[in-house]
Amino acid sequence: MIRIRNLNKHFGSFQCLFDVNLDVALGEVVVVIGPSGSGKSTLCRCINRLETISSGVIEVAGKPVPAEGKELARLRAQAGMVFQSFNLFSHLSILQNVALAPIKVRGLSKTKAQAQAMELLGRVGMADHAHKHPAQLSGGQQQRVAIARALAMEPKVLLCDEPTSALDPEMINEVLDVLTGLAAEGMTMLVVTHEMGFARKAADRVVFMDGGRILDVAPPEQFFTNPRNDRAADFLAKVL
Ligand code: ADP
Ligand code: MG
Repeated sequence: MIRIRNLNKHFGSFQCLFDVNLDVALGEVVVVIGPSGSGKSTLCRCINRLETISSGVIEVAGKPVPAEGKELARLRAQAGMVFQSFNLFSHLSILQNVALAPIKVRGLSKTKAQAQAMELLGRVGMADHAHKHPAQLSGGQQQRVAIARALAMEPKVLLCDEPTSALDPEMINEVLDVLTGLAAEGMTMLVVTHEMGFARKAADRVVFMDGGRILDVAPPEQFFTNPRNDRAADFLAKVL
């Protein structure tokens, strides 16, 4: 579903990503971990071209992601993104937040989009809050709505960039539970997170990044119990 070959990314003279190669298969859950500043967010943002790339190839669902135009909008919709900050529209209800893009971008009727939105809100345990506004919800609830909103575009891949790092501790699990459920249902996901418990439980493979490079890719069992890379071992010693 995602194929990245020799991806390089510069910000001016600063090189942020070095020759990144990564595949994410259909139904696979890949968790990306690594120290702050290692390029994890930039990698996510390059995949759906929220950032331009300097060189290399990125394909989503077998097609290169184009730099601009209609084709980009279509491919971007296939890679739904969930951010650290939920960015819900504050003037819209929860239901309207989830139904908006399907109406505007996918051309669904309002009735259809709202029916689908209700179903998705049910999946993330938020159906009872459909008519509230974002400010009336906790951070964890808003993030669950943001996940429903991403799913409403029927993405082939869900990209999550530190989806729980802005949340109070007691709200982290309710969001991770939703992501774990999606993983179990076969959603293809690339998740950047510092939640090692989630990585252990939900990941098919763990990617360790440092200094703009992928230094290791391994099944969680191996990565956490017997990391082959020294910097990964150092990192784990600090966070575990
Ligand atoms: P991570 O998500 O792993 O913390 P980022 O992808 O956010 O890392 O950042 C990787 C590096 O790229 C950092 O050194 C950061 O300062 C730099 N960087 C990120 N975005 C920009 C930008 N828009 N302009 C310049 N430098 C950036
Ligand atoms: Mg980041």
